Amino acid sequence: MKNKLKIVVASSNLHKIAEIKKILNNTYEIYALDEVIKPFEIIEDGKSFKENALIKSTTIFNALKKDDFIILSDDSGISVEALDNAPGIFSARYSKKANDIANNQKLIRKLHEKNLTQSKAFYTAAIAISSKYGNFYTHGYMHGLVIDTPKGSNGFGYDPLFIPNNFTQTLGELDEQIKLQISHRTKALKLANYILRLLEKLN
Ligand code: IMP
Repeated sequence: MKNKLKIVVASSNLHKIAEIKKILNNTYEIYALDEVIKPFEIIEDGKSFKENALIKSTTIFNALKKDDFIILSDDSGISVEALDNAPGIFSARYSKKANDIANNQKLIRKLHEKNLTQSKAFYTAAIAISSKYGNFYTHGYMHGLVIDTPKGSNGFGYDPLFIPNNFTQTLGELDEQIKLQISHRTKALKLANYILRLLEKLN
């Protein structure tokens, strides 16, 4: 039997790594970044999720210098319709403190400044893959509503404020299995999986 494809997740966000592992783990050998290389700062100065995901995956691929590893990165965030799609690619560092609680508080404050208690919003995930065969990317989206009261503690980031379409509870309240079925990340990873299967055949 052929060896499993070795995939390094180019992220130090433990929540993201956990979600990615839950979706891909049975099929591939998944490594966290710090298992293969000492993490270093990568300047994510792209203008889109796709560009930032590719910056992460190509930088790690070039630094690792191991052709038998495939690097997979995720760049993601939330876009709020009433805030002209902010914070978008700046989701992780929306507030100065750049942590989940402060980011959520800023989002609520921005809604209130517009006298709103909720707005349509959507999550985007761009998944990039870098390999000796080249670079690839996919996207996934999840649409819903952001509200001005955090609810629940499941998930991470903006999940306590986000109610997916067709649900009445936030991702903070919903079972994590539900998020795994419908999330932007899952959708982008399912597409990425087609590319991974092709790379596996070439290997
Ligand atoms: P990145 O690490 O630069 O891609 O930043 C991603 C940021 O977007 C996270 O820090 C969260 O604030 C937000 N985000 C992305 N995906 C999710 C999700 O699935 N749930 C909640 N917040 C998310």
